[in-house]
Amino acid sequence: MTKKTENNTVSMDQLKEMAERLTLVDGEKDNAEEQRMAALEKAFENTESLSHAEAISVLTSLSGADAEKSTEESLLIKSMFDELKEHDAGDQNPDELDEAIEGEDGETSANIEADAEDDAEEDSEDESKDAIPDSTAQLDIDGDAHMWIRDLDLHYGSAQAIYNVSIPFQRNAVTALIGPSGCGKSTLLRCLNRMNDLIPICKIDGSIELDGEEIMGRGADLVTIRRRVGMVFQKPNPFPKSIYDNVGYGVRLHYTPSRRELDRIVEQSLKRAAIWEEVNDRLHELGTSLSGGQQQRLCIARTIAVEPEVILMDEPCSALDPIATAKIEELILELKKHFTVVIVTHSMSQAQRVSDYTGFMYLGRLIEFDKTAKIFGDPKEELTARYVSGRFG
Ligand code: ADP
Repeated sequence: MTKKTENNTVSMDQLKEMAERLTLVDGEKDNAEEQRMAALEKAFENTESLSHAEAISVLTSLSGADAEKSTEESLLIKSMFDELKEHDAGDQNPDELDEAIEGEDGETSANIEADAEDDAEEDSEDESKDAIPDSTAQLDIDGDAHMWIRDLDLHYGSAQAIYNVSIPFQRNAVTALIGPSGCGKSTLLRCLNRMNDLIPICKIDGSIELDGEEIMGRGADLVTIRRRVGMVFQKPNPFPKSIYDNVGYGVRLHYTPSRRELDRIVEQSLKRAAIWEEVNDRLHELGTSLSGGQQQRLCIARTIAVEPEVILMDEPCSALDPIATAKIEELILELKKHFTVVIVTHSMSQAQRVSDYTGFMYLGRLIEFDKTAKIFGDPKEELTARYVSGRFG
């Protein structure tokens, strides 16, 4: 180890050295590992040190360590922390160190460290016990899950972007996905309506259920899936058509409504998207002539018009001013009465304002999933606590 730890912390030099050792465990450092190292350096560029528990979480995310079993990587993480403890033992009372590592909550990822000590004799019999804990083992929701992602792994070419993610999406609730840039939020969101199928190098393993029905199978009808699971993008993208035709477009694609039916659907969709009052006297003007916030609500109306069940929103307010953002947030709270909403947001205040559940992702893993109030008020994982308090990312 290069530098000595102080107060049971790991310096950034030490963390980088550990991360380097970890990436070399299976031979050479591959592209994905290099990318993750760069992301790690960026995320912590203004940080001097991390607690042991945080460092373990980071290393776990960085590695291919599996929550289910003792992999070579998870064992290396443990042995590196053993080394660190031995190194520090001269100056510190080992009991104090253990306490600090374990933290207040014995269920945190720091467990692997405590387990390493406590279960030393039992290790040889039951190695899986020492595995990196699965912080998202508790995926409880109050109501029924409209969609479920289970054990999802995703690769872009040889680079793995999502690691073994499972997450339920409660019906008629808003679930927010948060985490630093590049952690896989949008990738995960796009899986929910199989938009990633449009990316040739993308390979997905795992299961996604929509109302109990598997949608990942080869025979799945993608047109129907994308109608049932609609998407609103970061940048409003109305078609160069009239406001009316923007909303009617998808409806005509899926059904053959009469003019009167279509009039009714367009009006109702614009009303539900809270933009009817602003455009009802100019339905035949171009959608692109509207302001940014109006364009986004028009796109929401277009998504609603085909009667989806789930609406995916990928940072829907990031191109909007605060007033337009407030309107969309108000709308999201209204929309969840009729739809299930999944939103990717980089704004933690937005996640708190609009969502019922939050999943915190980091380096392709779901670190923690819980009710939003719990994630922001009393998260289980230290890494989550650091992120939601703005200490990295
Ligand atoms: P986030 O939404 O959290 O910013 P993304 O899902 O966009 O993260 O990206 C996750 C990882 O996948 C990143 O390393 C990114 O470079 C990679 N990635 C995203 N889209 C593609 C793509 N189309 N082809 C290759 N790699 C991609």
